[in-house]
Parts: sequence; structure tokens; C-alpha cells
Amino acid sequence: MNRTHTNGELRLTDVGKKVTLLGWVAKRRNLGSLVFIDLRDRYGITQIVCGDELTEAVRTVRSEYILEVTGTVVERQDKNPKMETGDIEVKAEKVTIVNTAELPPFIIADETDALEETRLKYRYLDLRRPVLQKKLFTRAKIVKAMHEYLDANDFIEVETPVLAKSTPEGARDYLVPSRVHPGCFYALPQSPQQFKQLLMVAGFERYYQVARCFRDEDLRADRQLDFTQLDIETSFLSQDEILTLTEGLLKKVMKDVKGIDIETPFRRFKYVDAMNMYGSDKPDTRFEMKLQDLTEVFRNSEFKAFAEGLGPKGAIKAIVTDHCENYSRKEQDKLTDLAKKNGAKGLVVLKYENDTLEGSAAKFFSAEEIENMVKVLGVKNGDLIMIVSGEWRKACSALGALRSHFGKTLHLYDPEIFDFLWITEFPMFEWNEEDGRYYSEHHPFTRPMDEDLTYLDSDPERVRSCAYDVVLNGYELGGGSLRIYDCNMQQKIFELLSLTDEQIKDRFGFFIDALKYGTPPHGGLALGLDRVAMILTGSESLRDVIAFPKNANAKDPMSDAPDKVDDKQLEELHIKIVAD
Ligand code: ASP
Repeated sequence: MNRTHTNGELRLTDVGKKVTLLGWVAKRRNLGSLVFIDLRDRYGITQIVCGDELTEAVRTVRSEYILEVTGTVVERQDKNPKMETGDIEVKAEKVTIVNTAELPPFIIADETDALEETRLKYRYLDLRRPVLQKKLFTRAKIVKAMHEYLDANDFIEVETPVLAKSTPEGARDYLVPSRVHPGCFYALPQSPQQFKQLLMVAGFERYYQVARCFRDEDLRADRQLDFTQLDIETSFLSQDEILTLTEGLLKKVMKDVKGIDIETPFRRFKYVDAMNMYGSDKPDTRFEMKLQDLTEVFRNSEFKAFAEGLGPKGAIKAIVTDHCENYSRKEQDKLTDLAKKNGAKGLVVLKYENDTLEGSAAKFFSAEEIENMVKVLGVKNGDLIMIVSGEWRKACSALGALRSHFGKTLHLYDPEIFDFLWITEFPMFEWNEEDGRYYSEHHPFTRPMDEDLTYLDSDPERVRSCAYDVVLNGYELGGGSLRIYDCNMQQKIFELLSLTDEQIKDRFGFFIDALKYGTPPHGGLALGLDRVAMILTGSESLRDVIAFPKNANAKDPMSDAPDKVDDKQLEELHIKIVAD
């Protein structure tokens, strides 16, 4: 092909040049004896004008045909300031149809009203839309910045296996049956966690990988079954050094991709403070509306809902907004539903008007309680007050969910701001009521904080870990921790997680063995690449920054995966399907 220029390239300075362009027909219009064609490629769109002499050559041309156009660049009479090439057009002298196309099921343009399901079914056409192409280019730019930064900082990129053994990141595994070993399964890695730690044992000191991870979870807009992490591990660095290194990485990404200089170091919040102030361990700090504590105000309250909710480990928390004084009963009920969905047993909603407290719960409060509450909350006329009493974490989370809801619906933040922060000092364990056992808040390889080691046996819930999450605008971008590098400590943590000796040996024997051979102190983290790309492209869904994503139903509507397989394949894998 004789292409001389792309469709995003020609400007007034090119007027008079003879050019040959290639591209897809984005639009075709007939205007008297002239035919106008918008020719599109990955670089942009150029307007082509075909005169009388070409009428026959372009007679059959339709949308999405591929053309080769040779012609001369001319200045446009009616310039289009919205198009980068809007000052010029190409007066065609020769038009060749390179390939024809069927009528696409939707118009290929930035604006589309096609259903997402249709777009995913014809993803290759969807991806032809400039808006999606731009997002994938931005994603590639992010990855490039990461490679450059890590390369400049002496990191080595190492690939780790996809067919592996189960890693405990807290999700369900994807299993792959082995043909050669009947009844045995590989697990697709939920992350390369153990491999990267073994690379530290092996002495690589600074590892990274753009790693594909697999977690069998219910999908949401910000979750996919297979997703990509920038996975990092280092030896001999302190937690502060790891955080600083990561800040440098994100600073470069923001500069290279968005042209924004972000401030470092990021603000750091202890987990307990983030929960108390924002009701979340991934708070959106672009707006205030902090949670406030009313535990002491209502500690001896006669109000049943408060007393019952409080219990020995409880708290009474509140948020106040001055934007919702006209909220109807129905709207208040919606807030209650949201609080309940997020762990609250109930929500007390009160209005403060004409210097009096209104709301069905108000009559249960003593005058002193009301006075103290008004003082603590700094309530003004017109304020709406929401209170939850319950187990501390649940009470905080429920109000945190309301806070995010208000943030979004009342537009309390500037969408142009990127507010990065760290959350540190997470609890090491989380008690699971149903299973009657502890689970790791991060993962079982996370090191407990030295000053809390004494509580490991006596009060595990009090133990904090050396884990950290990096958060941006209410999203967890990633997280990591310092790791246990003493095999006895690792064994003990597994035991605290109620694994039997046999389970420990069977699942992690190789790993504990490795820790015996001179393991350096090490730590690292992983950043969710899809999530970073989603935020930096201003997308609503991860699906917009993944070339071929699954739909919300965990299916690929294009290829129909997951799909049935031949009986013969199943036989080879020693698998029988049992009907429900
Ligand atoms: N493997 C962890 C995760 O996927 C990250 C880390 O601890 O480095 O969340």
C-alpha cells in the first residue's frame, strides 16, 4: 500500500501536497454531484471530496468499507474546528476499495446508543470507536510509564506461572483439571504472591510483573474475573521506602499520562482513623462530611435502638448534611435501606429545624442528650442528621456508604482532583462469624506489627499488620505489605487462621521450606492496572479499559465463553458432568 499520511495528520501547512490515505468509511454524504467521505483510522478522521469523475468509483461505497484514496490536500471552505484536520480536505483523484464491509449492527462513532451487550458481542467494532481506542492508548501509556520507572529503579521483570497452585487472596479459585494427573487440578493464580516472595528468597531484590490474576468473584463495574496487576516485590526496604517508591511511580504515571504534577508524599491515614472519619478504608477525601462520634453522648441512653446496637464493642456514629432539608419520608427510607445494606441494623434520621430536633426518634432523647448532640455535631437549622448505633466497624461502614452516596449525588467533589493517600496499620485478622474462625485481612503472608506481637495469642483482633493500601478518589488502587520472613512465624499465622498441620504442609509446605533457606526481609505491593486505567480515563466501568472483557454475567458475549466442551475432552480430563 502506498499510504503517505495518516488521517489525523494533515493541516493547512500540507495544502497542495499529493497524498495517499487509508482508512474506514466513517460517514458518506452526497451533496449534488459531490460525494463527501469521512475516512477514519486510529489517528483520526480526514474529509475526502469526490467530484463528478469519481461518482462511479464510489457508487457502491458504504460505511466501514476500507478505501485507499489518492488526492490533493486543499483548504476547506467551511472549516470544522471540532476536527483536528478540520481546516483541510483531500480532493480525491483515485479511490480504490480495499475491502467491503457488511452493515455494522451499530454506528461506529463516539456517541452510541447501542446496548452494552451488543457492543460486547461485536467488540471488534466497538473497539473501532475512537473513544474506546483512546482509552486503550491511555492504558498502554500507563503501562509504558510503569515499565520505564521500574526499569530506571533497577527492577527486573519476571514472568511467573499461570498454571499454579492455589494462592489465598480471599477469593474462589479457578481450577484447571490436569489430563496427566487424574483428579488433580491447577489453580489459576489469584496473584503471583508466593512466586514473587520466592524470587526474593532467590535473591532478585527488585521484581515486577504486569501480571494477570484470576479470581472467581461476582462481577461489579469495578471487578473482572481475570484482571491485571502491576505486581512488585522488594527486599531489604522499609515500609516507608516502599511507599516512597510507589509514590514516585504514580507521580510519573500521572505526569506522563495526564500531565499533572501530583504532590508527594501522599497523606497517610491509619486504618482506624480512616474508618472513624470517613467510614471507609478507601475513603474519597475530595470532600469533607466526616463521620462524628456520639458514643459518649448516648452511652446511657434509654433509647432502645441505641442501647441494643451499642453492646460491648459498639459505637454510635453520625453524619450531618445541610443539603437535604427537603428530603421526603421516601428519600429518608432509601437512606435507611442503603445503611442496612452496608451492615447497619437501622438508621436514625433527624432534622434540625427552628432550633428543634424533628424525627420519630427525637422523643426518646433527654434534653441533655439533645443539647450535647447539637454541640458535638455543631448542628445548624436545616441540617439532616443520620445516626447508626452498632458494632464499630459496621456502624462506620454504614455511614461511610451514606457519605459516598451523598458525595456522588450531591456532587460534593471536583471530578478533576486526584487525591492519593495511603491507609496503614490494618487489622491483621478479621473474625468470620459464619465459619467461626479468623481470616487474614490482607493475606496470610503479611507481617504483624512488632509492637502487637504480644497480642497474637491473647487478643488476635488487636493485632495490626504491616499492610498498606494506596487509595485514589474512593477507589483502592492497590495494596501490599511487609512479609513474614521467619518460617516459625509463618507457621504460627497459618495456625491462627485455623489451618491444620496437614493443610499447612499440603498447601504451603514448599513455601515454609523456602523460608528456611536465608530469606531476606521483604515486602511489596500490587496495583490494579485496570482500575488505574479506569480512573485516569474517567471511565465508569473496568470494561471500558479492557479490550475483551466479560459482561456482568461473567460471560463473553462475543465468543460465548464459558462454553460446553466435547465429551471426549471431558473424558481425557477424567471429568463427568453431574446434572443439578
Ligand atoms: N498479592 C497482593 C494482592 O493481590 C498484593 C501484595 O501483597 O503484594 O492484593
